Amino acid sequence: MKIDAAYYTGNGSFELRKVEDVAPGPGEVQVETAFCGICGTDLHVYLGHMEARIGDNRVIGHEMSGRVSAVGDGVEGYRIGDPVVVRPLAHCGHCPACKAGHIHVCHKLKFLGLDTDGAFQNRWTVPAHVLHKLPADMPLDQAALVEPMAVAVHDVRRAGVAVGEDVLVIGGGPIGMLVALVARHAGAQVTISEVNESRLKLARNMGFATANPRNENVAERIMAETGDKGADVVFEVSGTQPGVDLMTEVAATRGRICMVAIHAQKPQIDLFRFFWREIELIGARTYEIGDFDAAISLLSQGIGADRLITDIRPLAELPDAFKALTENPDSMKTLIRVTEEAV
Ligand SMILES: [Zn+2]
Ligand SMILES: [Zn+2]
Repeated sequence: MKIDAAYYTGNGSFELRKVEDVAPGPGEVQVETAFCGICGTDLHVYLGHMEARIGDNRVIGHEMSGRVSAVGDGVEGYRIGDPVVVRPLAHCGHCPACKAGHIHVCHKLKFLGLDTDGAFQNRWTVPAHVLHKLPADMPLDQAALVEPMAVAVHDVRRAGVAVGEDVLVIGGGPIGMLVALVARHAGAQVTISEVNESRLKLARNMGFATANPRNENVAERIMAETGDKGADVVFEVSGTQPGVDLMTEVAATRGRICMVAIHAQKPQIDLFRFFWREIELIGARTYEIGDFDAAISLLSQGIGADRLITDIRPLAELPDAFKALTENPDSMKTLIRVTEEAV
């Protein structure tokens, strides 16, 4: 059958095409994509920052939800109609990271929807082992938040956030907000530092303390509020030099800093502070299998993440949706309704 697919064709342009769907081979499952969110990485693709990796003939998209539409030979446990999400990682199985059990940071990790075709198409065929089943009553638009939520779950778990700890999240975009939600669920007092006023307003509406480094000295304020202790855990989600400056200034003695942002440039880091206060720096990348299951469970408990969805557009408007996201710094998460009749 013919399906609709949005191809990234290079230079910030997409082409909507009718193509033949791919029947699942042995060990594979075909999923009818219901919704697929636009990720920060997808925006980097659109802005032309990843042309060498993506090429000019690629269906991107990975923050998806959908239903099983065909099952390949040898696949057990899935039936047509099952609601699912995809954990979009392909590991090699042979490298030192894989052998040590860290398949999510495989040395040859391939990301489905960047290094292979992804979910901005009506039917997406993937290996069965990357699927996670959803509760029957979970709305599929909310389920499109499982993948970014799994990122946040992984970050908070890596940082070891505990009940009663003071947490500062630097950067209030979608991932920063999700990290804040998960950290609060883990029992922490969370402050979000962000420069965009409408994002700060949303954060306050979601019940978070906020700070704008353009208007105040955030480190001084956190020190004052914590009796000069500082933040037990700091998440650097801004990817900026001022964010990196703030993270070392504000971290408590023996505090943990979790590096979530992708820093394309090498920032300047106050290493003296690491020595002086015995700070730990923790890297966190992608997610493990259990993080996906935890993300599904948190979203089905109604943790409030659905408030981050600021726009839903049909697949035909995908190019406009990308354009709108880059032009409007106030927007948070845009979902593409990939298949119209999907619920
Ligand atoms: Zn993503
Ligand atoms: Zn590997």
